[in-house]
Amino acid sequence: MFPVALTGGIGSGKTTVAHLFHELHNIDIICADQVAREVILSPKVIEAIVDEFGDTVMTNGMIDRKVLRSIISQDTSARTWLNNLMHPIIRQQIELKLSKSQSIYTIIDIPLLTTATLTNYPYIKKIISICASMETKLDRITARDNQTTSQALLMIQSQISDDERRTFSDFIIKNDGDISELTPQINAIHHSILSFLNGTS
Ligand code: ATP
Repeated sequence: MFPVALTGGIGSGKTTVAHLFHELHNIDIICADQVAREVILSPKVIEAIVDEFGDTVMTNGMIDRKVLRSIISQDTSARTWLNNLMHPIIRQQIELKLSKSQSIYTIIDIPLLTTATLTNYPYIKKIISICASMETKLDRITARDNQTTSQALLMIQSQISDDERRTFSDFIIKNDGDISELTPQINAIHHSILSFLNGTS
């Protein structure tokens, strides 16, 4: 088992790059956001959230993520409470998926990786960060999520900067160009990890 974290700011291209690692090199991908979406379907988690925030967070027997997002965006203590509930379960599920992974290394897409949160993943062996200019990220987020530039800017600014990510990363992928420009960068990282695993670097 050789866990490799993949991180980057919102709209940097994590999902796109993860998909390419899988397509090109058959690498298993664990996506922390996807795990979070699974965890919030668990009856125990639903019960705890409804106990805390009331029935208004439920729609058709499920947690309404939009309502929940709106609550925690306005209330820091609500956000802390939810993080304390969800994050240990998410990390447990990530570790479970990791233990089942069969690929030569495993990529874990973790959007909110920082120097502080990294301590929650002591088993991570390498870190890949995706960087893109502010202009590129704004263009991609506004196109994908139908958001205004100022909404997208606020989201980017609420996260750590690419410069900060570089300080704890082993590899950087630059994603300002065409999708085809990602392939050679992914191949180079793949071969570098293989050399490391084979003890030749
Ligand atoms: P989030 O943090 O919001 O989940 P992300 O980092 O996973 O985002 P993606 O969803 O992979 O980012 O990419 C954001 C948008 O930009 C998507 O619509 C994707 O198709 C597009 N995109 C990513 N990389 C490129 C590229 N090199 N060229 C063109 N479009 C791209």
